[in-house]
Amino acid sequence: MAEHYYQKDIETMPIEDMKKLQSEKLVKQVKHVYENVAYYRNLMDEKGVKPEDIHGIEDLHKLPFLSKADLRDAYPYGLLGKPLKECVRIHSTSGTTGRRVVAFYTQHDVDLWEDCCARAIVAAGGTDEDVCQVAYGYGLFTGGAGLHGGSHKVGCLTLPMSSGNTDRQIQFMEDLGATILCCTPSYAAYVGESLKEKGYKPEDIPLKAGIFGAEPWTEEMRHQIEETLGIKAYDIYGLTETSGPGVAFECSEQTGMHINEDHFLAEIIDPDTGEVLPEGEKGELVFTSLDKEAFPLLRYRTRDICVLSRKKCSCGRTLIKMAKPMGRTDDMLIIRGVNVFPSQIETVLLNEGYQPNYQIIVDRVNNTDTFEVNVEMNPEQFTDKVSEILGMERKLSDAMKIMLGINPKVRLVAPKSIVRSEGKAVRVVDKRKLV
Ligand code: ADP
Ligand code: ZN
Repeated sequence: MAEHYYQKDIETMPIEDMKKLQSEKLVKQVKHVYENVAYYRNLMDEKGVKPEDIHGIEDLHKLPFLSKADLRDAYPYGLLGKPLKECVRIHSTSGTTGRRVVAFYTQHDVDLWEDCCARAIVAAGGTDEDVCQVAYGYGLFTGGAGLHGGSHKVGCLTLPMSSGNTDRQIQFMEDLGATILCCTPSYAAYVGESLKEKGYKPEDIPLKAGIFGAEPWTEEMRHQIEETLGIKAYDIYGLTETSGPGVAFECSEQTGMHINEDHFLAEIIDPDTGEVLPEGEKGELVFTSLDKEAFPLLRYRTRDICVLSRKKCSCGRTLIKMAKPMGRTDDMLIIRGVNVFPSQIETVLLNEGYQPNYQIIVDRVNNTDTFEVNVEMNPEQFTDKVSEILGMERKLSDAMKIMLGINPKVRLVAPKSIVRSEGKAVRVVDKRKLV
């Protein structure tokens, strides 16, 4: 099958031309940020770097980093690059209170983001003949809006399903002949299992491709999803800070995701020293937006551990590729697509009168994440009345739901029964083997 591109000139641009384009855009973007974002201007002043020092991408390393802590400090308007009057949208990271990030978009920003998602859809074989079922969550989460916009740009018939209500998803999929499914990989696997349970065979539904991302998933999971749904499954990567999904997307070769580097300039750094590492080395992925207006981020540390490659790709795209993220530099877990920090669990426990003696156990059963938190009772709370324990567990679980957006299964255990470790406590047992 001949390869199709959404924006061929960009996607197959000779590397030297791309670097020139990036350099031109970077100079402008730095100027824009320096003039309009006081927070970052201060960081640049502290480092003694001025917009005039940035002549092209070779000077990128001179700029200061920006971290999630900066985003929190600057919340909500401190990093705005345009007057609110020119902004048309916000999105926010999934269900976290203490660490919520709010990103702003002008119409230009929405357009460029949707173009990125459109490139992903076309790379997965999408055309205006397709019916694209968007089963990512709609709302503050970027998944639904991003793929929805991309699907419109490609001209697919868009089914704005949002996530959940699997029976309805399946009914629409069948009745309206969805050919492309966009959702998290765990939800795709769940839809696959549900179809199987209902007695459908892969050939009973017209799906041909899926675009799955927002959380880590393995090659084994890809094969399983491809088999149960009878499709080719493509990865897509992004984060709210940089727009949302579509920062990078997979092509037919499926050996990494092409980064939309005309909009997002990628670097790999040593997370401890901040030193820029050469291509092919593993480190923390850092992005610089090149033409975002409302929420431009220079050298934003994603905390995703990754590797970049310029190896020639059989799809004809020259865009640099990133491997699947291989872990994180912080302790953030992604459970059923929701970001969870152990510190949030700790906050809830302290608020509810417990000691921070707990362990989070995450697993993946039938391709769905399970999420359990074992918590020690205080000696004075100790009881062996089952009904009392159940009530206390429910109360804690509900408090965690308010904090995290998802309900863990809380299990209260006897005082002093969680193993104390010699050094750093083992707070998280992640059995999912995602990397
Ligand atoms: P979202 O709201 O889309 O979950 P967040 O900004 O909350 O976005 O989370 C972004 C993080 O999700 C990334 O930094 C990365 O760790 C993870 N992520 C997104 N897409 C993928 C993917 N395809 N594979 C692995 N991890 C991913
Ligand atoms: Zn490719």
